[in-house]
Amino acid sequence: MRNADLIQIANTFGDPVYVYDSEKIISQFHRLTNAFSGVRKLQLNYAAKALSNIAILKLMNSLGSGLDTVSIQEVQLGLLAGFSPESIIFTPNGVSLEEIEEAAQLGVRINIDNLSILEQFGTKHPDIPVCVRINPHVMAGGNSKISVGHIDSKFGISIHQIPHLLRIVELTKMNVNGIHMHTGSDILDIDVFLYASEILFETAQNFKDLDFIDFGSGFKVPYKEGDIETNVEELGKKLSDHFNAFCETYGKELTLAFEPGKFLVSEAGQFLARVNVVKQTTSTVFASIDTGFNHLIRPMLYGATHQINNISNPEGRERYYSIVGYICETDTFASNKRINEISEGDILCFNNAGAYCFTMASNYNSRFRPPEVLWHEGKAILIRERETFDDLIKHQVDVKDLFVSKTASKKEKAAVK
Ligand SMILES: *Cc1c(COP(=O)(O)O)cnc(C)c1O
Repeated sequence: MRNADLIQIANTFGDPVYVYDSEKIISQFHRLTNAFSGVRKLQLNYAAKALSNIAILKLMNSLGSGLDTVSIQEVQLGLLAGFSPESIIFTPNGVSLEEIEEAAQLGVRINIDNLSILEQFGTKHPDIPVCVRINPHVMAGGNSKISVGHIDSKFGISIHQIPHLLRIVELTKMNVNGIHMHTGSDILDIDVFLYASEILFETAQNFKDLDFIDFGSGFKVPYKEGDIETNVEELGKKLSDHFNAFCETYGKELTLAFEPGKFLVSEAGQFLARVNVVKQTTSTVFASIDTGFNHLIRPMLYGATHQINNISNPEGRERYYSIVGYICETDTFASNKRINEISEGDILCFNNAGAYCFTMASNYNSRFRPPEVLWHEGKAILIRERETFDDLIKHQVDVKDLFVSKTASKKEKAAVK
């Protein structure tokens, strides 16, 4: 998107504002699909939690994506957006049996990640097929050597518990139709990922009725210059070969599934905020913007680096700035970064604001959550309005005259009596 279009959007819809470029989402979807053109049956299930605006879900549905969901509410959003129940997979962690049953009743596919619920669900509903989430305990070591780690991860059923898992399946006579892994870490080393997938293939041999193997996600995208990104073309080629070979031995053409979130939407998003104050201290120049971790928490939550550009003065001389928010806590977006000279009133643009940005926004400091705009075929379409004061108080219950204000006037106190 051009800077002029972004500035126009900030002027039209106000700031701060999130903007998503549909063209980038579409091209990322096709890039991933093409990378795996070597397998006959591929299914991408977009991870709704990355960016769950219904317009984005509809876009994904139109591309032929399925949906990966982690709460019953995300399931409902997916159905509302037009996904068929069979194209939705429910992959929660640590939720109740009741929530899983509710999802199963809606007809979505179920993925279970612990033995306790697996046994309870299988005993009550032996006819509903389930996918099981396996933890292969593989992670890349510091020098990208393969090490067996992540033993403490709360996600998935440990590969060391497969014998126990098989006993549950046998006793309940349930049908396991898929196996799944999602380590949650970035795929930086393709060989490590292939090693984990070999473990999954080995595990898969224990189940006779599989329809799919789901490799989760972990596609890394660049956030700043010099960042490594997952080479999806290389991964696609290598994993497809391994997968096809596995299907041959297994004796059935299975579906290869992925659940990308970040890969599809991260780079499509930009977040625009305006500079309220430029403040020079003895050591630093701060630029305070009209947002904070209430709208974009990733830098403070897990040290994410978002590239920030001054789109109001892109040719200006570069100087060092610390970009901070307006929240009454430390909310530093960037420390001493070179940015084109900033004046009060300039619009700063955060890149990679598509994934885990708006969906993590809150009302902290009683601020409104910002609007979301979709840039589609050269037009800016509002897909979520900025909140208003009514939204802040909507669910609060008025306690009426339970307390009487000490500062109320005599007249008001008399009225209460
Ligand atoms: C969050 C999540 C994803 C998406 O991960 P990304 O890094 O955004 O691609 C996929 N699968 C599951 C089960 C998840 O919880």
